[in-house]
Amino acid sequence: MSTEVKGLNEECGVFGVWGSPDAAQLTYFGLHALQHRGQEGAGITANDQGTLKSERGLGLLADVFRDPRRLDRLTGTAAVGHVRYATAGNHGVENIQPLEFNFSDAQFALAHNGNLTNAVSLRRELEQAGAIFHASSDSEILMHLIRRSKAPTLDEQVKDALNQVQGGFAYLLITNDRLFAALDPNGFRPLVVGQLPTGGYVVCSETCALDAVGATFIQDVHPGELLTIDDQGLKIDHYTTDTQLAICSMEFIYFARPDSDIYGVNVHSARKRMGARLAQEQPVEADIVVGVPNSSLSAATGYAEASGLPYEMGLIKNQYSSRTFIQPTQALREQGVRMKLSAVKGVVAGKRVVLIDDSIVRGTTSRRIVKLLKDAGAKSVHLRIASPPLRYPCFYGIDIQTTRELIAANQTIPEMCQSFGADSLGFLSEAGVIESVGLKVEAPYGGLCMAYFNGDYPTPLYDYQVEYDEEIRQLQLHK
Ligand code: AMP
Repeated sequence: MSTEVKGLNEECGVFGVWGSPDAAQLTYFGLHALQHRGQEGAGITANDQGTLKSERGLGLLADVFRDPRRLDRLTGTAAVGHVRYATAGNHGVENIQPLEFNFSDAQFALAHNGNLTNAVSLRRELEQAGAIFHASSDSEILMHLIRRSKAPTLDEQVKDALNQVQGGFAYLLITNDRLFAALDPNGFRPLVVGQLPTGGYVVCSETCALDAVGATFIQDVHPGELLTIDDQGLKIDHYTTDTQLAICSMEFIYFARPDSDIYGVNVHSARKRMGARLAQEQPVEADIVVGVPNSSLSAATGYAEASGLPYEMGLIKNQYSSRTFIQPTQALREQGVRMKLSAVKGVVAGKRVVLIDDSIVRGTTSRRIVKLLKDAGAKSVHLRIASPPLRYPCFYGIDIQTTRELIAANQTIPEMCQSFGADSLGFLSEAGVIESVGLKVEAPYGGLCMAYFNGDYPTPLYDYQVEYDEEIRQLQLHK
């Protein structure tokens, strides 16, 4: 498969508003609340009486809009915005969203969170039919499919296109006179809709962005739904009824902000329950519990409460550094961990520490932090992870597409423990995740996608199948 179109629209954040005089400003605030979902680029497209205008750039939202004239230019009563997280090899500004399309009869701007699994074959078919692509991300594909649809109305064309793309997607599409929002048939990525006190509507990745702009939550966008918002109001329709909820469990474990609710479950509370369950499943004699800031703090407080051990601030995070995982190279990631975290010697010296992290991907963080604590004088470090070992890649929109990078796919738990220099290592079970999240739905794995832990993908893998089979075969050869 071409690396050009692979895995480019990862764990991003999207925000859209319709019917508010300060639409671009609200989008800025909403995206600011979603910045944790991507820090590589940001953009906003505003609709001013039917005309679309965009501003976008590389880096954090505040950097892109440092010059206030950029936001001032985005007048109008509707807007969509995007914060982008991308993998190595694709950092061009042409991939920063929203992607704007100008046709002789219409304008569109598209923001996408997720990853399509049939992007390569669709793009090949479209190119053979004469389509010209500007960016290397797979987000443009939807636009081509809409324009090529023979359906009589725009709504039907959008539905037609949505039925051809596979994988994980939360799309926002703004046109001259409406805003569409659509979610894939498994609801891999979170998407919610809310209403502003002044009557306008907001659709965005997480409820924390609704709170940031003072919007009231209406509902989670459900798998297969297509929302249309225009001057007449909000219409909730669907483009398919062949759906099965399988929301990404990593949203609960790591990605989403703790103050967000997903399908009625508060993310912090779910993490706290995972930590408490971890204490039952993987107990250890120790003096203090320390969490890796910030994403593990909820789980660490749960572990401390359930085990009866004191929670201590044994690690400090420099608030002025960004997420290390998002750095494109291993050298940068390692440097990033050093800049980001330091041990509190006075707290950990001479102590038996239970160190809680939410997940282990490549193992960079664990290795570094165990060493940090030991260098600071910890007597022992017992690493406890509030999720199961990540052994399989994700093709629906988180940046884990190859098993080669996953330490748990290549090493046993004792081997990992040794390579981190920890005194013991324990993970939360799959049932522990599912029951701690506790979604009230009738669906496999309690409505969660657990594929990175057990290899059970809720959909066919389409363009990724051959490559995936080969990787799994090679891994088994090595074991
Ligand atoms: P690593 O250092 O590669 O083992 O990454 C693990 C750390 O990155 C964990 O502490 C998580 O907080 C975070 N993390 C887990 N999964 C992801 C992901 N897909 N993208 C970004 N960060 C992640």
